[in-house]
Amino acid sequence: MRKREREITEPSEILAILDECKILHLGLSDGDQPYVVPLNYGYLLEDGKLTFYLHGSTEGYKYEVLQKNPKVSFAMECGVIPFEGTAACQYGMSYRSLMGKGTAKLVTDTDEKQLGLSILMKTQTGKDFSFNEKLVSIVNVIKITADSYSAKKRPLPPKTSAGN
Ligand SMILES: Cc1cc2nc3c(=O)[nH]c(=O)nc-3n(C[C@H](O)[C@H](O)[C@H](O)COP(=O)(O)OP(=O)(O)OC[C@H]3O[C@@H](n4cnc5c(N)ncnc54)[C@H](O)[C@@H]3O)c2cc1C
Repeated sequence: MRKREREITEPSEILAILDECKILHLGLSDGDQPYVVPLNYGYLLEDGKLTFYLHGSTEGYKYEVLQKNPKVSFAMECGVIPFEGTAACQYGMSYRSLMGKGTAKLVTDTDEKQLGLSILMKTQTGKDFSFNEKLVSIVNVIKITADSYSAKKRPLPPKTSAGN
């Protein structure tokens, strides 16, 4: 990361980003054409190992691309607050974000699909849900195993006496 002072390494701060963002921008590669699609996610972070579960209908372009290339990138952001300045270059946005790379696969095992959907709902709502086999059979569940990830924050600039 170029601006090292903005990197987040504290696990509790990384967890807070994963809890708060709710939407993951999934980057896929269709040959020489990147494809980015926003999706809700659930996550597991165990011993620094990050796993995401995503869900959707059983058809669509993202599955066609995934079949060709399971390598993915992901990005999410939260706490986005615009701030102003006097000059154009002093305008900006505060944020906390997480980005990474990994490998995606379609989950076929019913038990793991149920687990993935429960994890997704826990991340999205904070509540516990369970899913029967019929419900599980009508959706796809994608599992992303992250190979690497990093987190970053840009705080709001200090207020000046001019009120900036
Ligand atoms: C905040 C948010 C959360 C979402 N959460 C989920 C989720 O959890 N699960 C889920 O399956 N979907 C979710 N969606 C919808 C998702 O972004 C896709 O539209 C959907 O998954 C279909 O993707 P696909 O690749 O199968 O596209 P297809 O339905 O096969 O369509 C392919 C084409 O449609 C267009 N297209 C597809 N998606 C979008 C889009 N979002 N906006 C504009 N054009 C689009 C593009 O041109 C794309 O090439 C969410 C969308 C948003 C904005």
